[in-house]
Amino acid sequence: MRRYRAVVGVLLAAIATFLVSCGGSPTAIAPTYTPEKIAQLQNYVSRIEASRDRLPELANYIEKDNWINVDNFTHGPLGQLRAELTRLSNQLLPADQAKAKMLSEEILTHLEKLDNASQDRNYGNAMAQYQEFVGDFDALLSIIPQAARQKAVTEPTVYEMTTTLPDAAEERAEAEDMVRVPVMLEDAS
Ligand code: ZN
Repeated sequence: MRRYRAVVGVLLAAIATFLVSCGGSPTAIAPTYTPEKIAQLQNYVSRIEASRDRLPELANYIEKDNWINVDNFTHGPLGQLRAELTRLSNQLLPADQAKAKMLSEEILTHLEKLDNASQDRNYGNAMAQYQEFVGDFDALLSIIPQAARQKAVTEPTVYEMTTTLPDAAEERAEAEDMVRVPVMLEDAS
């Protein structure tokens, strides 16, 4: 009994110390997105937003059974997505990071399955994976602080990324592009 009380005493002391260290210190405030943090995030967000803006292009290729362009798109403009998602997630506050990493895995899994469906020329599966992909993509964007997103949208740096793969109309007009990306011909059949 005596020993039991001693253990309880130690436990209570430990809890009291814990409570004091958590609640008593004026510096123990929950982390927030400071303007500096928002500025840091901006660059990572703009790349992700640029990719998101171009996803209808990918849907269009699937719609047309243009599997070569689907493949070019997933390995071209979306080829750096894993790295970009990781960098973005790492910039988020710890509370948001776990969710962002989980959604990133979802996004990349759907992209991989979309890639497989594309190789199988399976329109139904490709479209289903595309929808899931977009849904998880938007879910991820929704946890990014609005201020970082708004800044990203107004920043012109997005053009760096959009030059990776020219859109079909531009590309057909330029002979150079045809040489550089010969598989970009639409309706090659
Ligand atoms: Zn999913």
